[in-house]
Amino acid sequence: MPIRVLSEEVASQIAAGEVVERPASVVKELIENAIDAAATAIQVRVRRGGKEFVHVVDDGCGVPRDEVELAFHRHATSKLTTADDLERIATLGFRGEALASIASVSRMTFTTRASGETVGSLLRLEGGEIQIRREVGRPAGTAVTVENLFFNIPARRKFLRTDRTERRHIDQWVTRYAIAYPHIRFTLDHSGQNALQSPGSGELRDVVAAVYGPEIGEQALRVVSDIPGGQSDVRVAGLIGPPSFHRANRTYITVFVNGRWVQDPSLTYAVTQAYHRFLPTGRHPLAIVLLDLPPGDVDVNVHPAKAEVRFRDGDAVFRALQKAVRRTLLERARIPEAHGLVEPRQGAPGWPPSAVDGGDTAGRRERLIRLGGREAPADGQFRLASDTWGDRSGASIPPLRVIGQLRATYIVAEGPEGMVLLDQHAAHERVLFEQLLARREETEPASQSLLEPALVELGPEQADLVEGQSTLLARLGFEVEPFGGSTVLVRALPTMVAADEPDQVLEDAAMALRSGNEPLGIPLEALVARQVCKRAAIKAGQTLDHPEMEALIRALEQCDSPRTCPHGRPTMIRLTVRQLAREFGRS
Ligand code: ADP
Ligand code: MG
Repeated sequence: MPIRVLSEEVASQIAAGEVVERPASVVKELIENAIDAAATAIQVRVRRGGKEFVHVVDDGCGVPRDEVELAFHRHATSKLTTADDLERIATLGFRGEALASIASVSRMTFTTRASGETVGSLLRLEGGEIQIRREVGRPAGTAVTVENLFFNIPARRKFLRTDRTERRHIDQWVTRYAIAYPHIRFTLDHSGQNALQSPGSGELRDVVAAVYGPEIGEQALRVVSDIPGGQSDVRVAGLIGPPSFHRANRTYITVFVNGRWVQDPSLTYAVTQAYHRFLPTGRHPLAIVLLDLPPGDVDVNVHPAKAEVRFRDGDAVFRALQKAVRRTLLERARIPEAHGLVEPRQGAPGWPPSAVDGGDTAGRRERLIRLGGREAPADGQFRLASDTWGDRSGASIPPLRVIGQLRATYIVAEGPEGMVLLDQHAAHERVLFEQLLARREETEPASQSLLEPALVELGPEQADLVEGQSTLLARLGFEVEPFGGSTVLVRALPTMVAADEPDQVLEDAAMALRSGNEPLGIPLEALVARQVCKRAAIKAGQTLDHPEMEALIRALEQCDSPRTCPHGRPTMIRLTVRQLAREFGRS
Protein backbone atom coordinates (compact mmCIF):
# COMPACT_ATOMS: atom_id res chain seq x y z
CA MET A 1 0.00 0.00 0.00
CA PRO A 2 1.28 3.47 -0.81
CA ILE A 3 1.85 5.95 2.03
CA ARG A 4 -1.07 8.29 2.58
CA VAL A 5 -1.90 10.95 5.16
CA LEU A 6 -4.79 9.78 7.30
CA SER A 7 -8.06 11.64 6.98
CA GLU A 8 -8.86 14.15 9.70
CA GLU A 9 -11.61 11.89 10.97
CA VAL A 10 -9.46 8.78 11.32
CA ALA A 11 -6.60 10.73 12.87
CA SER A 12 -8.86 12.27 15.45
CA GLN A 13 -10.38 8.92 16.37
CA ILE A 14 -6.93 7.48 16.89
CA ALA A 15 -5.96 10.44 19.05
CA ALA A 16 -9.24 10.20 20.95
CA GLY A 17 -8.47 6.57 21.69
CA GLU A 18 -5.45 7.62 23.70
CA VAL A 19 -7.42 9.94 25.94
CA VAL A 20 -10.75 8.15 26.08
CA GLU A 21 -10.34 4.52 26.89
CA ARG A 22 -13.62 3.96 28.69
CA PRO A 23 -16.41 5.92 30.41
CA ALA A 24 -14.23 6.48 33.45
CA SER A 25 -11.76 8.43 31.29
CA VAL A 26 -14.58 10.81 30.38
CA VAL A 27 -15.43 11.28 34.04
CA LYS A 28 -11.79 11.86 34.88
CA GLU A 29 -11.24 14.48 32.17
CA LEU A 30 -14.42 16.35 32.96
CA ILE A 31 -13.60 16.40 36.66
CA GLU A 32 -10.13 17.70 35.90
CA ASN A 33 -11.59 20.51 33.84
CA ALA A 34 -13.95 21.37 36.67
CA ILE A 35 -11.11 21.42 39.18
CA ASP A 36 -9.02 23.60 36.88
CA ALA A 37 -12.03 25.92 36.65
CA ALA A 38 -11.85 26.36 40.45
CA ALA A 39 -15.15 24.63 41.16
CA THR A 40 -16.21 24.23 44.78
CA ALA A 41 -18.80 21.57 44.03
CA ILE A 42 -18.72 18.87 41.36
CA GLN A 43 -21.64 16.56 40.67
CA VAL A 44 -21.23 13.42 38.63
CA ARG A 45 -24.27 11.47 37.43
CA VAL A 46 -23.89 8.27 35.51
CA ARG A 47 -26.10 5.62 33.93
CA ARG A 48 -25.13 2.09 32.88
CA GLY A 49 -21.56 2.44 34.02
CA GLY A 50 -21.27 5.60 31.94
CA LYS A 51 -21.77 3.78 28.67
CA GLU A 52 -25.13 5.37 28.13
CA PHE A 53 -24.81 8.63 29.99
CA VAL A 54 -22.26 10.70 31.92
CA HIS A 55 -23.18 14.08 33.31
CA VAL A 56 -20.76 16.36 35.14
CA VAL A 57 -21.81 19.72 36.58
CA ASP A 58 -19.53 22.26 38.21
CA ASP A 59 -19.79 25.74 39.63
CA GLY A 60 -16.45 26.87 38.25
CA CYS A 61 -15.49 29.84 36.14
CA GLY A 62 -17.27 28.66 32.97
CA VAL A 63 -16.26 29.31 29.37
CA PRO A 64 -16.76 32.77 27.81
CA ARG A 65 -19.27 32.88 24.93
CA ASP A 66 -16.74 33.65 22.25
CA GLU A 67 -14.47 30.77 23.27
CA VAL A 68 -16.96 27.95 23.53
CA GLU A 69 -16.44 26.58 20.04
CA LEU A 70 -12.71 26.96 20.29
CA ALA A 71 -12.66 24.71 23.35
CA PHE A 72 -13.54 21.79 21.06
CA HIS A 73 -10.60 22.25 18.76
CA ARG A 74 -7.79 19.82 19.29
CA HIS A 75 -4.87 21.46 21.12
CA ALA A 76 -7.03 24.36 22.20
CA THR A 77 -6.39 25.21 25.83
CA SER A 78 -6.50 28.20 28.13
CA LYS A 79 -3.87 26.69 30.43
CA LEU A 80 -0.70 26.95 28.46
CA THR A 81 0.81 29.30 25.88
CA THR A 82 4.50 28.66 25.44
CA ALA A 83 6.58 25.50 25.59
CA ASP A 84 8.28 26.99 28.65
CA ASP A 85 4.96 26.82 30.47
CA LEU A 86 5.27 23.05 30.29
CA GLU A 87 7.98 23.38 32.92
CA ARG A 88 5.62 24.77 35.49
CA ILE A 89 2.23 23.22 34.98
CA ALA A 90 -0.04 23.98 37.87
CA THR A 91 -3.28 22.79 36.27
CA LEU A 92 -4.46 19.24 35.68
CA GLY A 93 -5.13 19.86 32.00
CA PHE A 94 -2.81 21.48 29.49
CA ARG A 95 -2.94 19.40 26.33
CA GLY A 96 -6.21 20.80 25.03
CA GLU A 97 -7.29 17.38 23.91
CA ALA A 98 -10.01 16.14 26.18
CA LEU A 99 -13.07 18.00 24.95
CA ALA A 100 -12.17 17.44 21.31
CA SER A 101 -11.50 13.76 21.94
CA ILE A 102 -14.60 13.05 23.96
CA ALA A 103 -16.80 14.98 21.56
CA SER A 104 -15.46 13.04 18.58
CA VAL A 105 -16.55 9.69 19.99
CA SER A 106 -19.90 10.58 21.57
CA ARG A 107 -22.97 12.76 21.52
CA MET A 108 -22.12 15.68 23.76
CA THR A 109 -24.02 18.61 25.19
CA PHE A 110 -21.91 21.37 26.68
CA THR A 111 -23.63 24.19 28.52
CA THR A 112 -21.69 26.87 30.27
CA ARG A 113 -21.79 30.42 31.54
CA ALA A 114 -18.69 32.39 32.38
CA SER A 115 -18.95 34.03 35.77
CA GLY A 116 -18.56 37.53 34.29
CA GLU A 117 -21.23 37.12 31.61
CA THR A 118 -25.00 37.32 31.71
CA VAL A 119 -25.87 34.77 29.07
CA GLY A 120 -24.64 31.23 28.77
CA SER A 121 -24.09 28.99 25.75
CA LEU A 122 -25.24 25.55 24.74
CA LEU A 123 -23.35 23.46 22.24
CA ARG A 124 -24.53 20.12 20.98
CA LEU A 125 -22.08 17.91 19.09
CA GLU A 126 -22.28 14.52 17.49
CA GLY A 127 -19.09 12.68 16.59
CA GLY A 128 -17.32 16.00 16.99
CA GLU A 129 -19.61 17.91 14.58
CA ILE A 130 -21.49 20.85 15.99
CA GLN A 131 -25.24 20.28 15.55
CA ILE A 132 -26.72 23.04 17.65
CA ARG A 133 -25.41 26.23 19.13
CA ARG A 134 -27.61 28.59 21.07
CA GLU A 135 -27.78 30.86 24.08
CA VAL A 136 -29.15 29.62 27.37
CA GLY A 137 -29.74 30.91 30.84
CA ARG A 138 -27.99 28.92 33.55
CA PRO A 139 -25.99 29.48 36.70
CA ALA A 140 -22.30 30.29 36.30
CA GLY A 141 -20.32 27.15 35.70
CA THR A 142 -20.41 24.26 33.31
CA ALA A 143 -22.50 21.15 32.70
CA VAL A 144 -21.38 18.48 30.29
CA THR A 145 -23.47 15.53 29.15
CA VAL A 146 -21.84 12.70 27.25
CA GLU A 147 -24.18 10.14 25.73
CA ASN A 148 -23.65 6.93 23.78
CA LEU A 149 -19.91 6.79 24.14
CA PHE A 150 -18.22 5.20 21.12
CA PHE A 151 -21.52 5.15 19.19
CA ASN A 152 -19.46 5.75 16.04
CA ILE A 153 -16.65 3.29 16.83
CA PRO A 154 -18.25 -0.13 17.25
CA ALA A 155 -14.85 -1.78 17.67
CA ARG A 156 -14.27 0.29 20.78
CA ARG A 157 -17.73 -0.17 22.13
CA LYS A 158 -17.27 -3.90 21.96
CA PHE A 159 -14.35 -3.70 24.35
CA LEU A 160 -16.30 -2.01 27.09
CA ARG A 161 -16.86 -4.21 30.12
CA THR A 162 -19.97 -4.88 32.13
CA ASP A 163 -21.79 -1.94 33.65
CA ARG A 164 -20.45 -3.03 37.00
CA THR A 165 -16.82 -2.99 35.95
CA GLU A 166 -17.12 0.35 34.20
CA ARG A 167 -18.88 1.70 37.23
CA ARG A 168 -16.07 0.57 39.46
CA HIS A 169 -13.55 2.48 37.37
CA ILE A 170 -15.68 5.59 37.67
CA ASP A 171 -15.96 5.15 41.42
CA GLN A 172 -12.20 4.96 41.63
CA TRP A 173 -11.61 8.19 39.77
CA VAL A 174 -14.21 10.16 41.66
CA THR A 175 -12.85 8.81 44.92
CA ARG A 176 -9.31 9.76 44.02
CA TYR A 177 -10.25 13.31 43.20
CA ALA A 178 -12.46 13.64 46.25
CA ILE A 179 -9.45 12.62 48.34
CA ALA A 180 -6.97 14.89 46.59
CA TYR A 181 -9.30 17.89 46.78
CA PRO A 182 -11.02 17.81 50.18
CA HIS A 183 -12.25 21.38 49.87
CA ILE A 184 -14.39 20.44 46.84
CA ARG A 185 -17.78 18.85 47.48
CA PHE A 186 -18.09 15.79 45.25
CA THR A 187 -21.31 13.95 44.58
CA LEU A 188 -21.51 10.74 42.59
CA ASP A 189 -24.78 9.10 41.52
CA HIS A 190 -25.23 5.88 39.62
CA SER A 191 -28.68 5.64 38.03
CA GLY A 192 -30.09 7.94 40.66
CA GLN A 193 -28.43 6.22 43.59
CA ASN A 194 -25.89 8.11 45.60
CA ALA A 195 -22.55 6.34 45.64
CA LEU A 196 -20.30 8.97 47.16
CA GLN A 197 -20.72 12.27 48.86
CA SER A 198 -17.70 14.13 50.12
CA PRO A 199 -18.34 16.99 52.53
CA GLY A 200 -16.05 19.57 50.96
CA SER A 201 -14.90 20.62 54.42
CA GLY A 202 -11.26 20.87 53.39
CA GLU A 203 -10.34 18.09 55.82
CA LEU A 204 -8.81 14.99 54.25
CA ARG A 205 -9.93 13.02 57.28
CA ASP A 206 -13.58 13.80 56.52
CA VAL A 207 -13.22 12.53 52.97
CA VAL A 208 -11.47 9.38 54.15
CA ALA A 209 -14.31 8.80 56.59
CA ALA A 210 -16.83 9.24 53.78
CA VAL A 211 -14.96 6.86 51.50
CA TYR A 212 -13.56 4.18 53.80
CA GLY A 213 -15.86 4.52 56.77
CA PRO A 214 -15.80 6.57 59.98
CA GLU A 215 -13.55 4.16 61.84
CA ILE A 216 -10.69 4.49 59.39
CA GLY A 217 -11.33 8.20 59.21
CA GLU A 218 -10.79 8.42 62.92
CA GLN A 219 -7.89 6.01 63.25
CA ALA A 220 -5.75 7.11 60.32
CA LEU A 221 -2.48 8.80 61.27
CA ARG A 222 -1.60 12.18 59.88
CA VAL A 223 1.67 11.99 58.01
CA VAL A 224 4.51 13.73 59.79
CA SER A 225 5.69 16.16 57.19
CA ASP A 226 8.54 18.14 58.68
CA ILE A 227 11.54 15.87 58.44
CA PRO A 228 14.31 17.44 60.51
CA GLY A 229 17.44 18.05 58.52
CA GLY A 230 15.62 17.27 55.32
CA GLN A 231 16.55 19.83 52.72
CA SER A 232 14.40 18.06 50.22
CA ASP A 233 11.99 20.04 48.08
CA VAL A 234 9.52 17.20 48.35
CA ARG A 235 6.65 17.85 50.74
CA VAL A 236 4.71 14.86 51.95
CA ALA A 237 1.25 15.05 53.49
CA GLY A 238 -1.66 12.70 53.87
CA LEU A 239 -3.14 10.06 56.10
CA ILE A 240 -1.95 6.52 56.63
CA GLY A 241 -3.70 3.60 58.25
CA PRO A 242 -2.63 2.30 61.65
CA PRO A 243 -0.75 -1.01 61.54
CA SER A 244 -3.90 -2.75 62.72
CA PHE A 245 -5.50 -2.01 59.36
CA HIS A 246 -4.15 -4.09 56.53
CA ARG A 247 -5.32 -5.65 53.32
CA ALA A 248 -4.23 -8.41 50.99
CA ASN A 249 -3.52 -6.07 48.07
CA ARG A 250 -2.19 -2.63 47.36
CA THR A 251 -5.41 -0.99 46.23
CA TYR A 252 -5.63 1.00 49.43
CA ILE A 253 -2.43 2.84 48.65
CA THR A 254 -3.11 6.04 46.77
CA VAL A 255 -0.43 8.47 45.71
CA PHE A 256 -0.88 11.96 44.35
CA VAL A 257 1.79 14.17 42.89
CA ASN A 258 0.94 17.85 42.74
CA GLY A 259 -2.77 17.10 42.95
CA ARG A 260 -2.64 14.44 40.28
CA TRP A 261 -3.27 10.76 40.97
CA VAL A 262 -0.35 8.75 39.73
CA GLN A 263 0.29 5.10 39.25
CA ASP A 264 3.88 4.56 40.17
CA PRO A 265 4.94 1.16 41.49
CA SER A 266 8.08 2.57 43.02
CA LEU A 267 6.16 5.07 45.15
CA THR A 268 3.72 2.37 46.23
CA TYR A 269 6.71 0.29 47.17
CA ALA A 270 8.17 3.16 49.20
CA VAL A 271 5.00 3.12 51.29
CA THR A 272 4.97 -0.66 51.74
CA GLN A 273 8.65 -0.59 52.68
CA ALA A 274 8.02 1.98 55.35
CA TYR A 275 5.58 -0.43 56.98
CA HIS A 276 8.19 -3.15 57.13
CA ARG A 277 7.82 -5.06 60.41
CA PHE A 278 4.67 -3.12 61.25
CA LEU A 279 2.47 -5.43 59.23
CA PRO A 280 2.16 -9.16 58.88
CA THR A 281 4.00 -10.44 55.85
CA GLY A 282 2.14 -10.22 52.61
CA ARG A 283 -0.29 -7.62 53.88
CA HIS A 284 -0.53 -4.02 52.70
CA PRO A 285 -1.46 -0.82 54.46
CA LEU A 286 -3.92 1.91 53.73
CA ALA A 287 -2.17 5.09 52.73
CA ILE A 288 -3.15 8.30 51.09
CA VAL A 289 -0.11 10.37 50.37
CA LEU A 290 0.04 13.72 48.71
CA LEU A 291 3.41 14.69 47.37
CA ASP A 292 4.12 18.25 46.48
CA LEU A 293 7.21 19.26 44.63
CA PRO A 294 8.25 22.17 42.46
CA PRO A 295 6.50 21.80 39.07
CA GLY A 296 9.89 21.96 37.36
CA ASP A 297 10.99 18.78 39.15
CA VAL A 298 8.28 16.62 37.71
CA ASP A 299 7.33 15.94 34.11
CA VAL A 300 3.62 15.22 33.79
CA ASN A 301 3.66 15.20 30.02
CA VAL A 302 4.60 11.56 29.64
CA HIS A 303 1.29 10.02 28.71
CA PRO A 304 -1.95 11.43 27.25
CA ALA A 305 -3.93 10.19 30.23
CA LYS A 306 -1.26 11.63 32.54
CA ALA A 307 -1.35 8.76 35.02
CA GLU A 308 2.41 8.51 34.81
CA VAL A 309 4.89 11.16 35.76
CA ARG A 310 8.64 11.36 35.60
CA PHE A 311 10.78 12.89 38.33
CA ARG A 312 13.98 14.80 37.91
CA ASP A 313 15.26 12.99 41.00
CA GLY A 314 13.19 9.88 41.51
CA ASP A 315 15.37 8.59 44.35
CA ALA A 316 14.89 11.73 46.39
CA VAL A 317 11.12 11.43 46.02
CA PHE A 318 11.24 7.78 47.00
CA ARG A 319 13.33 8.53 50.09
CA ALA A 320 11.24 11.49 51.18
CA LEU A 321 8.06 9.44 50.95
CA GLN A 322 9.45 6.40 52.69
CA LYS A 323 10.96 8.49 55.48
CA ALA A 324 7.80 10.45 56.11
CA VAL A 325 5.65 7.33 56.35
CA ARG A 326 8.18 5.51 58.49
CA ARG A 327 8.53 8.41 60.84
CA THR A 328 4.79 8.77 61.15
CA LEU A 329 4.55 5.14 62.13
CA LEU A 330 7.37 5.33 64.62
CA GLU A 331 6.07 8.47 66.22
CA ARG A 332 2.37 7.94 66.10
CA ALA A 333 1.67 4.26 65.84
CA ARG A 334 3.13 3.35 69.20
CA ILE A 335 2.75 4.58 72.70
CA PRO A 336 4.63 7.87 73.00
CA GLU A 337 7.76 7.47 75.08
CA ALA A 338 7.03 10.68 76.92
CA HIS A 339 4.21 8.98 78.76
CA GLY A 340 6.76 6.60 80.18
CA LEU A 341 4.47 3.68 79.60
CA VAL A 342 6.79 1.37 77.82
CA GLU A 343 10.50 1.13 78.06
CA PRO A 344 12.06 2.11 74.77
CA ARG A 345 13.86 -0.66 73.02
CA GLN A 346 17.59 -0.34 73.50
CA GLY A 347 19.23 -2.45 70.90
CA ALA A 348 18.64 -6.13 70.81
CA PRO A 349 18.91 -8.39 73.78
CA GLY A 350 22.07 -10.42 73.59
CA TRP A 351 22.11 -14.16 73.60
CA PRO A 352 21.98 -15.70 76.99
CA PRO A 353 25.32 -17.40 77.63
CA SER A 354 23.91 -20.79 78.33
CA ALA A 355 22.25 -20.89 74.98
CA VAL A 356 25.58 -20.24 73.36
CA ASP A 357 27.09 -23.04 75.39
CA GLY A 358 24.53 -25.31 73.90
CA GLY A 359 23.67 -28.44 75.77
CA ASP A 360 20.27 -29.77 76.61
CA THR A 361 17.92 -27.69 74.46
CA ALA A 362 14.90 -29.27 76.05
CA GLY A 363 16.19 -28.38 79.50
CA ARG A 364 13.94 -26.19 81.50
CA ARG A 365 16.65 -23.81 82.65
CA GLU A 366 17.82 -23.08 79.20
CA ARG A 367 14.35 -22.70 77.89
CA LEU A 368 13.72 -20.20 80.57
CA ILE A 369 16.75 -18.18 79.61
CA ARG A 370 15.98 -18.47 75.94
CA LEU A 371 12.52 -17.18 76.51
CA GLY A 372 13.76 -14.38 78.70
CA GLY A 373 13.80 -10.75 77.82
CA ARG A 374 14.46 -7.88 80.15
CA GLU A 375 12.41 -6.29 82.89
CA ALA A 376 8.86 -5.45 82.03
CA PRO A 377 7.66 -1.86 82.15
CA ALA A 378 6.27 -1.00 85.54
CA ASP A 379 2.99 0.21 84.27
CA GLY A 380 1.32 0.53 80.96
CA GLN A 381 -1.70 1.40 79.06
CA PHE A 382 -3.59 -1.16 77.09
CA ARG A 383 -3.43 -0.34 73.43
CA LEU A 384 -2.67 -2.01 70.16
CA ALA A 385 -3.56 -5.25 68.63
CA SER A 386 -4.73 -7.05 65.60
CA ASP A 387 -7.80 -6.26 63.56
CA THR A 388 -10.04 -8.09 65.93
CA TRP A 389 -9.05 -5.97 68.87
CA GLY A 390 -10.60 -2.97 67.26
CA ASP A 391 -8.18 -0.91 69.24
CA ARG A 392 -6.27 2.11 68.07
CA SER A 393 -2.93 1.14 66.54
CA GLY A 394 0.13 1.08 68.79
CA ALA A 395 2.98 -1.29 68.15
CA SER A 396 3.68 -2.22 71.75
CA ILE A 397 1.83 -4.48 74.07
CA PRO A 398 0.67 -3.66 77.56
CA PRO A 399 2.12 -5.37 80.59
CA LEU A 400 0.44 -8.70 81.08
CA ARG A 401 0.07 -10.82 84.20
CA VAL A 402 0.27 -14.53 83.58
CA ILE A 403 -2.66 -16.52 84.88
CA GLY A 404 -1.86 -19.91 83.46
CA GLN A 405 -1.56 -22.19 80.48
CA LEU A 406 -4.38 -23.66 78.45
CA ARG A 407 -4.06 -26.97 76.61
CA ALA A 408 -0.27 -26.63 76.79
CA THR A 409 -0.67 -24.29 73.82
CA TYR A 410 -2.01 -20.94 74.93
CA ILE A 411 -0.94 -18.60 77.69
CA VAL A 412 -3.80 -17.02 79.59
CA ALA A 413 -2.95 -13.57 80.88
CA GLU A 414 -4.60 -10.51 82.32
CA GLY A 415 -4.11 -7.08 80.80
CA PRO A 416 -5.47 -3.67 81.79
CA GLU A 417 -8.55 -4.18 79.65
CA GLY A 418 -9.33 -7.79 80.16
CA MET A 419 -8.17 -11.23 79.30
CA VAL A 420 -5.47 -11.95 76.75
CA LEU A 421 -4.67 -15.29 75.16
CA LEU A 422 -1.26 -15.78 73.62
CA ASP A 423 -0.27 -18.49 71.20
CA GLN A 424 2.97 -19.66 72.77
CA HIS A 425 4.50 -20.92 69.55
CA ALA A 426 3.64 -17.82 67.52
CA ALA A 427 4.84 -15.53 70.31
CA HIS A 428 8.12 -17.34 70.71
CA GLU A 429 8.68 -17.37 66.95
CA ARG A 430 8.34 -13.60 66.97
CA VAL A 431 10.79 -13.22 69.84
CA LEU A 432 13.41 -15.46 68.26
CA PHE A 433 12.97 -13.88 64.86
CA GLU A 434 13.64 -10.37 66.05
CA GLN A 435 16.51 -11.48 68.21
CA LEU A 436 18.10 -13.33 65.34
CA LEU A 437 17.81 -10.43 62.92
CA ALA A 438 18.87 -7.79 65.44
CA ARG A 439 21.80 -9.87 66.53
CA ARG A 440 22.95 -10.22 62.94
CA GLU A 441 22.82 -6.46 62.45
CA GLU A 442 24.67 -5.52 65.57
CA THR A 443 27.22 -8.18 66.34
CA GLU A 444 28.08 -11.61 65.15
CA PRO A 445 25.48 -14.22 64.56
CA ALA A 446 24.79 -16.62 67.37
CA SER A 447 26.45 -19.57 65.79
CA GLN A 448 27.43 -22.84 67.30
CA SER A 449 30.02 -25.18 65.88
CA LEU A 450 28.94 -28.77 65.70
CA LEU A 451 31.03 -31.15 67.77
CA GLU A 452 31.45 -33.07 64.61
CA PRO A 453 30.87 -31.48 61.21
CA ALA A 454 27.93 -33.17 59.52
CA LEU A 455 27.62 -34.26 55.92
CA VAL A 456 24.21 -33.47 54.55
CA GLU A 457 22.93 -34.85 51.31
CA LEU A 458 20.58 -32.38 49.60
CA GLY A 459 18.82 -32.45 46.25
CA PRO A 460 20.85 -30.86 43.44
CA GLU A 461 18.67 -27.76 43.34
CA GLN A 462 18.76 -27.40 47.09
CA ALA A 463 22.51 -27.83 47.19
CA ASP A 464 22.91 -25.12 44.57
CA LEU A 465 20.75 -22.76 46.56
CA VAL A 466 22.54 -23.40 49.83
CA GLU A 467 25.99 -23.10 48.29
CA GLY A 468 25.04 -20.03 46.30
CA GLN A 469 23.79 -18.29 49.42
CA SER A 470 26.50 -19.33 51.84
CA THR A 471 27.30 -15.70 52.73
CA LEU A 472 23.70 -14.95 53.55
CA LEU A 473 23.49 -18.15 55.58
CA ALA A 474 26.70 -17.25 57.39
CA ARG A 475 25.16 -14.00 58.56
CA LEU A 476 22.50 -16.05 60.30
CA GLY A 477 24.99 -18.44 61.90
CA PHE A 478 25.32 -21.23 59.34
CA GLU A 479 28.73 -22.46 58.31
CA VAL A 480 28.31 -24.61 55.23
CA GLU A 481 30.76 -25.76 52.58
CA PRO A 482 30.32 -27.63 49.32
CA PHE A 483 31.45 -31.23 49.60
CA GLY A 484 31.06 -32.37 46.03
CA GLY A 485 27.90 -33.46 44.27
CA SER A 486 24.84 -32.36 46.12
CA THR A 487 26.41 -32.94 49.51
CA VAL A 488 27.34 -30.11 51.82
CA LEU A 489 29.48 -30.08 54.92
CA VAL A 490 27.85 -28.36 57.87
CA ARG A 491 30.32 -27.00 60.41
CA ALA A 492 28.06 -24.73 62.43
CA LEU A 493 24.39 -23.88 62.83
CA PRO A 494 22.48 -20.96 64.31
CA THR A 495 22.62 -21.60 68.03
CA MET A 496 18.90 -21.85 68.48
CA VAL A 497 18.75 -24.88 66.20
CA ALA A 498 22.21 -26.29 66.93
CA ALA A 499 20.77 -29.31 68.70
CA ASP A 500 18.45 -30.20 65.86
CA GLU A 501 19.21 -32.61 63.05
CA PRO A 502 21.50 -30.74 60.63
CA ASP A 503 19.86 -32.24 57.55
CA GLN A 504 16.45 -31.03 58.63
CA VAL A 505 17.71 -27.56 59.43
CA LEU A 506 19.43 -27.34 56.04
CA GLU A 507 16.36 -28.56 54.25
CA ASP A 508 14.31 -25.86 55.93
CA ALA A 509 16.82 -23.26 54.85
CA ALA A 510 16.88 -24.53 51.27
CA MET A 511 13.10 -24.47 51.17
CA ALA A 512 13.06 -20.88 52.37
CA LEU A 513 15.66 -19.91 49.79
CA ARG A 514 13.62 -21.50 47.06
CA SER A 515 10.47 -19.62 48.03
CA GLY A 516 12.55 -16.45 47.74
CA ASN A 517 11.17 -15.20 44.48
CA GLU A 518 7.55 -15.79 45.36
CA PRO A 519 6.44 -13.37 48.06
CA LEU A 520 6.98 -9.80 47.17
CA GLY A 521 9.59 -7.84 48.94
CA ILE A 522 10.48 -10.21 51.77
CA PRO A 523 14.26 -10.32 51.95
CA LEU A 524 15.71 -13.79 51.53
CA GLU A 525 17.43 -13.50 54.84
CA ALA A 526 14.15 -12.93 56.62
CA LEU A 527 12.67 -15.96 54.88
CA VAL A 528 15.45 -18.18 56.12
CA ALA A 529 15.39 -16.62 59.57
CA ARG A 530 11.68 -17.23 59.76
CA GLN A 531 12.17 -20.89 59.01
CA VAL A 532 14.95 -21.27 61.56
CA CYS A 533 12.81 -19.64 64.23
CA LYS A 534 9.82 -21.77 63.39
CA ARG A 535 11.94 -24.81 64.12
CA ALA A 536 13.45 -23.38 67.28
CA ALA A 537 10.32 -21.96 68.87
CA ILE A 538 8.55 -23.86 71.62
CA LYS A 539 5.76 -25.94 70.19
CA ALA A 540 2.13 -26.28 71.00
CA GLY A 541 1.78 -29.10 73.50
CA GLN A 542 4.80 -28.09 75.51
CA THR A 543 4.02 -27.47 79.13
CA LEU A 544 5.46 -24.23 80.48
CA ASP A 545 5.68 -23.17 84.08
CA HIS A 546 4.96 -19.72 85.43
CA PRO A 547 8.44 -18.20 85.18
CA GLU A 548 8.78 -19.51 81.65
CA MET A 549 5.55 -17.90 80.58
CA GLU A 550 6.54 -14.67 82.31
CA ALA A 551 9.85 -14.69 80.51
CA LEU A 552 8.22 -15.23 77.16
CA ILE A 553 5.85 -12.32 77.66
CA ARG A 554 8.66 -10.04 78.85
CA ALA A 555 10.63 -10.96 75.73
CA LEU A 556 7.65 -10.32 73.53
CA GLU A 557 7.30 -6.87 75.04
CA GLN A 558 10.74 -6.05 73.68
CA CYS A 559 9.73 -6.83 70.13
CA ASP A 560 9.12 -4.28 67.42
CA SER A 561 6.11 -6.15 66.12
CA PRO A 562 4.87 -8.17 69.06
CA ARG A 563 1.42 -8.72 67.69
CA THR A 564 2.16 -11.06 64.85
CA CYS A 565 4.44 -13.99 64.31
CA PRO A 566 6.94 -13.72 61.44
CA HIS A 567 4.47 -15.56 59.21
CA GLY A 568 1.77 -13.03 59.93
CA ARG A 569 -0.41 -14.98 62.34
CA PRO A 570 -1.52 -13.11 65.46
CA THR A 571 0.42 -13.88 68.61
CA MET A 572 -2.44 -12.87 70.84
CA ILE A 573 -6.14 -12.20 71.02
CA ARG A 574 -8.13 -10.61 73.79
CA LEU A 575 -11.46 -10.65 75.49
CA THR A 576 -12.27 -7.34 77.13
CA VAL A 577 -13.97 -6.90 80.48
CA ARG A 578 -16.80 -5.29 78.62
CA GLN A 579 -17.23 -8.30 76.36
CA LEU A 580 -17.19 -10.54 79.41
CA ALA A 581 -19.80 -8.43 81.15
CA ARG A 582 -21.96 -8.59 78.07
CA GLU A 583 -21.63 -12.35 77.80
CA PHE A 584 -22.61 -12.73 81.44
CA GLY A 585 -25.50 -10.35 81.02
CA ARG A 586 -24.09 -7.91 83.53
CA SER A 587 -24.52 -4.76 81.47
P1 ADP B 1 -7.27 21.23 28.70
O1 ADP B 1 -8.00 20.91 29.95
O2 ADP B 1 -6.07 20.40 28.52
O3 ADP B 1 -7.00 22.68 28.53
P2 ADP B 1 -9.73 20.42 27.43
O4 ADP B 1 -10.01 19.95 26.06
O5 ADP B 1 -10.06 19.53 28.53
O6 ADP B 1 -8.21 20.82 27.46
O7 ADP B 1 -10.47 21.79 27.63
C1 ADP B 1 -10.25 22.85 26.72
C2 ADP B 1 -10.51 24.19 27.37
O8 ADP B 1 -11.90 24.33 27.63
C3 ADP B 1 -9.84 24.36 28.70
O9 ADP B 1 -8.53 24.83 28.56
C4 ADP B 1 -10.74 25.36 29.39
O10 ADP B 1 -10.40 26.66 29.04
C5 ADP B 1 -12.11 25.07 28.80
N1 ADP B 1 -12.92 24.24 29.72
C6 ADP B 1 -13.18 22.91 29.58
N2 ADP B 1 -13.97 22.48 30.58
C7 ADP B 1 -14.22 23.53 31.37
C8 ADP B 1 -14.98 23.72 32.59
N3 ADP B 1 -15.63 22.71 33.18
N4 ADP B 1 -15.01 24.96 33.11
C9 ADP B 1 -14.35 25.98 32.53
N5 ADP B 1 -13.62 25.86 31.40
C10 ADP B 1 -13.55 24.66 30.82
MG1 MG C 1 -8.92 19.12 30.35
